[in-house]
Amino acid sequence: MTKDFVIAVIGIGLIGGSVLKALNHKNFHLIGISRSEGTLNKAKELNLADEYSNNPESVKNAKVVFICTPINQIIPTIEIIRKIVSPDCIITDVASLKGFILDYVNDYHFPTNFIGGHPMAGTENKGVEYSVDNLFENAKWVLTPSKWADTEDLKKLEELVHFMGAKTILADPYDHDKAVALISHMPLLLSQALFGFISQYPDGGIRELALKLASSGFRDTTRLAATNPELAKDMLVQNKLNVREAVGDLINYLTHLDRDLNLNEEEFTDIIQKIASKRKSMYSPDGKNILK
Ligand code: NAP
Repeated sequence: MTKDFVIAVIGIGLIGGSVLKALNHKNFHLIGISRSEGTLNKAKELNLADEYSNNPESVKNAKVVFICTPINQIIPTIEIIRKIVSPDCIITDVASLKGFILDYVNDYHFPTNFIGGHPMAGTENKGVEYSVDNLFENAKWVLTPSKWADTEDLKKLEELVHFMGAKTILADPYDHDKAVALISHMPLLLSQALFGFISQYPDGGIRELALKLASSGFRDTTRLAATNPELAKDMLVQNKLNVREAVGDLINYLTHLDRDLNLNEEEFTDIIQKIASKRKSMYSPDGKNILK
């Protein structure tokens, strides 16, 4: 892939900006497309692309298009650009949910070369000013090909994802949505519940003391409560069936763990010891998930 290999990124926010940063200096011709002049100016200041535009027509010569808009804008954006790009152009996205998008594309009566994607990396911030260098280094990147995509295109996209430092994982879109409910969307809801509960704790004196004393443990367990509300709403509402099922299962687990507090100290230590050692073996010292 060379400088005449044109890649367009639509939606230059936290993820779109990070995709451009990850592909920059890799000898591609990069086009950054976003709606607002303010965002385009910020992207220019950061020197993220070779061309900038607020016009979706600019994807015309792209070989690959990354759609990095909010979740609820992915399908409308596919609808616009599928009529503009050439048939061999690969369209992919980065949305945190895959099932409803793949259903939509697979139900088309005409071919659309779409391969769903979801980089398992991000932060609670929003906007291009929070885009991150090397965000995808050693991260997992889920790919969910539509029925229209062929093996060659999948290989090409995998190669690009590898260029960005990430490892690809192929998944069924509905399995993906169930899995991310467990490790991303339910934790987001729990983090909001924990912070919401404590910040409204009925005993004002204890509440103020607790919030004053809260340090890194509370900060880490409630980090997701500060997630960009538009993204949080889209993930929780669109994936509510899976999130509710996960919350129900967690309540059962918690009820058992609460009962286990009545065991003798040795038995209870054994239970939490097993949990602690599994958790420790999952992440490298620099915080990356090392499970293959
Ligand atoms: P973000 O920072 O708010 O970025 C979204 C960008 O899309 C905005 O900067 C906005 O720019 C642009 N945009 C909105 N509607 C558009 C449209 N119709 N056409 C063109 N551009 C449009 O949000 P984000 O966190 O990057 O999330 C983007 C996607 O990444 C979502 O689908 C999300 O599920 C996925 N994702 C997020 C994370 C995370 O941790 N944040 C992780 C993995 C995946 P303008 O100012 O130009 O409107």
